[in-house]
Amino acid sequence: MRALKYLLATTLLTMSSASMAKLNIFTCEPEWASLAREIGADRVNISTAISADQDPHKVQARPSLISAVRNADLVFCTGAELEVGWLPVLLSRSANPRMQKASGVLYAANLVPLLEKPTTLDRSHGDIHAAGNPHMHLDPRRIITVAEQLSARLAELDAEGAAFYRDNLSDFLNSWNAAIKDWESRATGLRGTKVVVHHRSFSYLLDWLGMTAVAEMEPKPGLPPTPGHLGEILTQVEQHDVKMVLYTSFNGAQGARWLAERSGACAVLLPYSHEESLFILFEELVNTLNQHQAMCS
Ligand SMILES: [Zn+2]
Repeated sequence: MRALKYLLATTLLTMSSASMAKLNIFTCEPEWASLAREIGADRVNISTAISADQDPHKVQARPSLISAVRNADLVFCTGAELEVGWLPVLLSRSANPRMQKASGVLYAANLVPLLEKPTTLDRSHGDIHAAGNPHMHLDPRRIITVAEQLSARLAELDAEGAAFYRDNLSDFLNSWNAAIKDWESRATGLRGTKVVVHHRSFSYLLDWLGMTAVAEMEPKPGLPPTPGHLGEILTQVEQHDVKMVLYTSFNGAQGARWLAERSGACAVLLPYSHEESLFILFEELVNTLNQHQAMCS
């Protein structure tokens, strides 16, 4: 009898967990996959278009991505034209009716104030971000708003999980706010530091930490550095006493190394995203900047 009860109980348990349909979330970038995992935990399945070392501006609209969007209950991306070259293709080819509704897509950049909004629009300036700089995930304070809105959206799509998402949000924000305080206290020595960047991918990070970019290596946004442009930047590096030349893996090290070899500045490889955890991403960013601040003249 006891064995039968046990069998019945385990069967019911298996049935209930199997029958709980998970929400399918398609994220464009790994930072949003990390955040969705914090809030959605085991009530969601998450797929990501790219890995942390891939350039989010340039993604191929592959059939596997189209089918992932077709199965999605929520598409969670940056927006602000970051994915303008590929996400519209995924959305239209997937023909997913859930994406026609306002609840189907969540754009993080729509939820926060953006830096570097252009005052005049001229596409001849290259691949400019007309809506403002979209690389907003590198400000941990802006992540707070995105986490809150994501939790609300998940509750809208999966009402039974509302309390679960709210609890996860509250746990996440407790740890996140404490981490921000810790990172800020460890990064005070970085305030006022001048850097050169490859692309404006780090504007939000620099804004948060009180650092300044005096130049960018791309002659026009989206175009690779040219010898002529790097030559002009070299003068600025010397004039402004630039300490670090920042780049990320998908930029390539060439331009940063060229400048570093000819000046006292260091070429610094920074992570741009992280598949597993936003905590690890910011930990690595603050540590790498601090190490170079101490090391580079
Ligand atoms: Zn960009």
